Amino acid sequence: MYQLIFLGAPGAGKGKQAEIFAQNNKLANISTGVMLRNEIASGSALGLELKPIIETGALVSDELVISLIEHRLTQIDCQKGYIFDGFPRTIQQAEELEKFFIKQKIKLPLVVMFDISDENLLARLENRRNSDEHRADDAVEVQKNRLQIYREQTVPLIDYYKQKGQLVRVDANADVEVVQQRLVDVLNVANNS
Ligand code: ADP
Repeated sequence: MYQLIFLGAPGAGKGKQAEIFAQNNKLANISTGVMLRNEIASGSALGLELKPIIETGALVSDELVISLIEHRLTQIDCQKGYIFDGFPRTIQQAEELEKFFIKQKIKLPLVVMFDISDENLLARLENRRNSDEHRADDAVEVQKNRLQIYREQTVPLIDYYKQKGQLVRVDANADVEVVQQRLVDVLNVANNS
């Protein structure tokens, strides 16, 4: 079993890194953002409730994402391990996740922080707005809001995991393939120490 958590600002590129690493290592790639957007696309009652929250850049409730995650982990493709992309996003989510891992006697995951400069972050978000991957929550004002929420609610997780000895860092100011190689190197070192 191999569990990882990917942390980083919206636009840091962690989603892309998760996709490649999961595929190469036969891990399930669990993105709460993708799960929530799928729920909206399905047109369900829950999706209708989520739509306005996500479109303003706010976070959905901790209870909801935790129950989505707990359900997702029972699926067969998670058996070899998984990557969380975009979860946990708040201290409460991290605490709930830890309780869950301890209850299930699962080893606590390594947490990879993707570091990116403000300059590169703004450039990437701008690119995404102009590309086919464009999403409803990519508008400038919404992005600002998401970044502020990230700083307030998610950045504290960096210290939280650092203190627990679970954190490793990857410099994400480079092309996708370069960052992927850095990720592989950092995880090799961490797993052999
Ligand atoms: P990005 O990868 O660009 O940071 P995501 O796709 O992870 O964005 O998330 C998009 C939106 O989905 C968030 O702005 C938030 O509204 C919601 N969301 C995703 N994950 C969580 C979570 N763990 N807790 C609360 N809300 C979440």
